[in-house]
Formats: sequence, C-alpha cells, structure tokens
Amino acid sequence: MSPSLTLLNVLHVPKISCNLISVSRIIHDCKCIATITFAGFEFQDPCSGKMIGNAKEVDGLYHLVSENSSDEQVQKPRCLTTLSCENDIMLWHYRLGHPSFNYLKYLFPNLFKNKDISSFCCEVCELAKHHRSVYPSLKYMPSKPFSLVHSDIWGPSRVKIASGSKWFITFIDDYTRVTWIYLLKEKSEAANVFKNFHSLINTRFHTNIQALRTDNGREYFNAILGDFLKEKGIIHHASCVDTPQQNGVVRGKIGIY
Ligand SMILES: [Zn+2]
Repeated sequence: MSPSLTLLNVLHVPKISCNLISVSRIIHDCKCIATITFAGFEFQDPCSGKMIGNAKEVDGLYHLVSENSSDEQVQKPRCLTTLSCENDIMLWHYRLGHPSFNYLKYLFPNLFKNKDISSFCCEVCELAKHHRSVYPSLKYMPSKPFSLVHSDIWGPSRVKIASGSKWFITFIDDYTRVTWIYLLKEKSEAANVFKNFHSLINTRFHTNIQALRTDNGREYFNAILGDFLKEKGIIHHASCVDTPQQNGVVRGKIGIY
C-alpha cells in the first residue's frame, strides 16, 4: 500500500484484533479505481493509472500487501501487530496468575519491545490487590469484670466430637480476658447457652453482664436472646458488616485461661 495514501473517517475500535478497510469508502475518499481479479485486489490512481495499493486473498479476506516487500509477503498493518502484542501480554498476564508487568517483561522481552509498561492495566488486579486503609485501633478503656463480654461462634467442624457437637461458642470477659467455651450441636443453641453463662456469672461472681459484643451472626439476633437481653438490661453491641476488627477480641486474641 502506498505510504502517501491517506485514509479518512477512520474509526478506532478498542481491542479489535485487526484493521478493516471499507472498499467503497476508500474508492469514494481517494477517488481511485478498484479492480478485483482472481489474484487479488488492486487500487489505481484514475489519472496516472499507477497502482497505489494491492491486496492478496488469504482465507477469504483481502490482506494489504506492503509496497516495499519484494517477496510480496502479506504485510501485517502496524496497528494490528501492536494490538496482537498487547493481547499476548494480557493473555500471559492472565495465564500466569496476574504477575506484575515488570516480571512479564523479564519473561517475554520480545513482547515488550517499544512498549511502555505503565500503559498496561489489568482491572482484576486493580480490584483484587487494593489495600484497605489501616483500621484505627480503639484505645482500651479500662472496665470492670463482666461489664463487657465478647462472643463469637466457630464451626462447623468437619469432625464431630463424640457428643455430636460441631460448633463452639466463646465468651471472653473484656476486663480479665478469661474465656469460656461451650460446645454446640447447632448454632441455634447459642441463645440458651448465653442464658446459662449469664446464670453462671450471677451465681459465681455475684455480678451482672452489662454489655455483649458480637458480630452480625443471625444466631445472636433471634427473639429468644433479644427478649432475654432486654429483660436483663444487657446492651448488645454488633460489629459492622465485614469489619472483624471491631470484634477483634474474639477474632484474633483468643486465649484460654
Ligand atoms: Zn491482573
């Protein structure tokens, strides 16, 4: 194709794998003559009759031929080559488990010739590798025994113990960090277990639990436990969704005393 031939009304289609030229458009815009033969396609200047471009048929498509190519190899348009390399880079990025583009360049230097690494962007990486901002840790407020009790439920365990239990519920006193663990056959037993724990504290320590801190587990939000907490004047603190840090005492610092 003649390098002086200017194509007008070019549309950019992101990620298209090849460049397409409309024959009717090029004839109108460049005022040239197009001739189709069994050998291919030719564009001629109408005044001089000089051939300004030609194309060879490959698999039913006419591919433009380079003007300078002596062996008449079908030329891949430059833009097509670039797109193909970018597609390959992204393909290897996905295949290898989303490594950094710097590392990909180390593995495939040929694909990155004349490429700016910063121009590559993977949406999956952007979303998956985002860092969350640091969660501010609350200053510990000294309390007194059983003014605040943390609770969480773990399970189900893949292996049932002999009694048939596969869950356990923990109660941690915020002041002393003493931990009680009860085994459960079903999560729904949580409300009754808390009642038993409350009675235990009343009897043994002659005091009342003032607040219960849990996550948003449904087992803590049933009518049985809700009514019991109201009756005893116990405040229920529930952490926000997806913020285990707010329930950090039972999440990360379980110690059995
Ligand atoms: Zn990625």
